Amino acid sequence: MLGIWIGKFILWVLRLRGRDATSLPGKVALRISPGLIRRFGGQVKRVIAVTGTNGKTTTTSLLASMVAEREPVVTNHKGANLAQGIATAFLRSCSWTGRLPASTAVLEIDEATLPAVAPDLPIGVIVVTNVFRDQLDRYGELDGTLAKLLEGIRKTQATLVLNGDDPLCRYLGLRSSRKVIYYGMARDTARSPRREQMRDGQFCLMCGRPLRYDGFWYGQLGLYRCEGCDFVRPHPVFQGELQGGFLRFTEEGLPDLLLDLPVSGLYNAYNVLAAASAARALGLTSAAIHGGLRAYRPPEGRMQRFDLEAPVTLHLIKNPTGCDSVLDTVVSDGRDKVVVIGVNDLAADGRDVSWLWDADFELLAEDPRLTAVVTTGFRAHDMALRLKYAGLPESRIRVEPDLEAALQEGLSQSSATGAAMHALVTYTLLHPAARWLSERRDEHEPQGALYRTSVS
Ligand SMILES: [Zn+2]
Repeated sequence: MLGIWIGKFILWVLRLRGRDATSLPGKVALRISPGLIRRFGGQVKRVIAVTGTNGKTTTTSLLASMVAEREPVVTNHKGANLAQGIATAFLRSCSWTGRLPASTAVLEIDEATLPAVAPDLPIGVIVVTNVFRDQLDRYGELDGTLAKLLEGIRKTQATLVLNGDDPLCRYLGLRSSRKVIYYGMARDTARSPRREQMRDGQFCLMCGRPLRYDGFWYGQLGLYRCEGCDFVRPHPVFQGELQGGFLRFTEEGLPDLLLDLPVSGLYNAYNVLAAASAARALGLTSAAIHGGLRAYRPPEGRMQRFDLEAPVTLHLIKNPTGCDSVLDTVVSDGRDKVVVIGVNDLAADGRDVSWLWDADFELLAEDPRLTAVVTTGFRAHDMALRLKYAGLPESRIRVEPDLEAALQEGLSQSSATGAAMHALVTYTLLHPAARWLSERRDEHEPQGALYRTSVS
């Protein structure tokens, strides 16, 4: 009980100071009451866990938003997916006596945290979005991530909702001996790879022979089959097909749903597909799925838009595959553009920035509408070097280690040339960049500023 009081008290103090805490209250509370998560887990009827490398924050928010159409829900919205973040999510929802107002929790859980918290939570469904190489510092290897996920899955009796287009998810499904429901994109929407895009899972994890692909969506997601054994992409129960700003969601025996995509791009279409599939697995109605999508607001840094002197889009980059999909979004923006890339190497960013060499920055060099790039952050020079090797002329690269100066520079260049601006930043630069851009917006929109003044 003391842990709950202290956790709630910290939350309350931070809120008074205008800060929205996502981890600290849970961290302190867990230190005082190590059994806190088990205690909350005992109060809810079911937990839906969302894990995987990319897209879990968006998928969690989307799914929580859909479940909320039916019943109250506890969730950790902001990507705080370690034990302290999960504890904080419960602390935010519970009363001072520790009572939760909801019997369902939709929780984003880090792959390495899953085995630790699985025994304490009644996890009924586990969604795995994909398994890519990520955060080298923490896991070292992909095999380690897969082992952690399997260990976590085996500590539950959960039904798995897996991305069937990902051979590594398929492997988890085959190795876990749990009930599995696969989702995937419609077969005929796969494209041939423009160049060698596979990094992970080129080899069959069952027999070690190479995987053959008949088509790709992105990264290792595609129509794979093993040349040496019967390992093959499963036929998905839930299928998605991108149609403009919509995702056609198909489930055998039921009429198709045309789902609004609150955020654009194939990458996000997968998140919507994952959330809708999990929602269906939970028995949610089409109305709840539609309603959840309408109510959803993209979190900070997931293609967050700012209308300033030039239109600005802010993206989070954190690993090669996620970065590739951001780069894909940037180059498919048909406007002239200035790109600001911010790379830090603090613990939360990942100390090892060698992943920059795995990401497909060559895409930028090939974009004729790209007018300039400003690199920033502690590793601004590494980033500039990477771009040089990608084939971008040095004359178009500017290094400005100070974030605010770099954003200012990008904005001036964009507005002077009528270009759009894209800012791509790693984790610890995300909040500072979002804050600077929001403040800038407030200055830029006098009406908005007046309105805010008059209501405060
Ligand atoms: Zn095989």
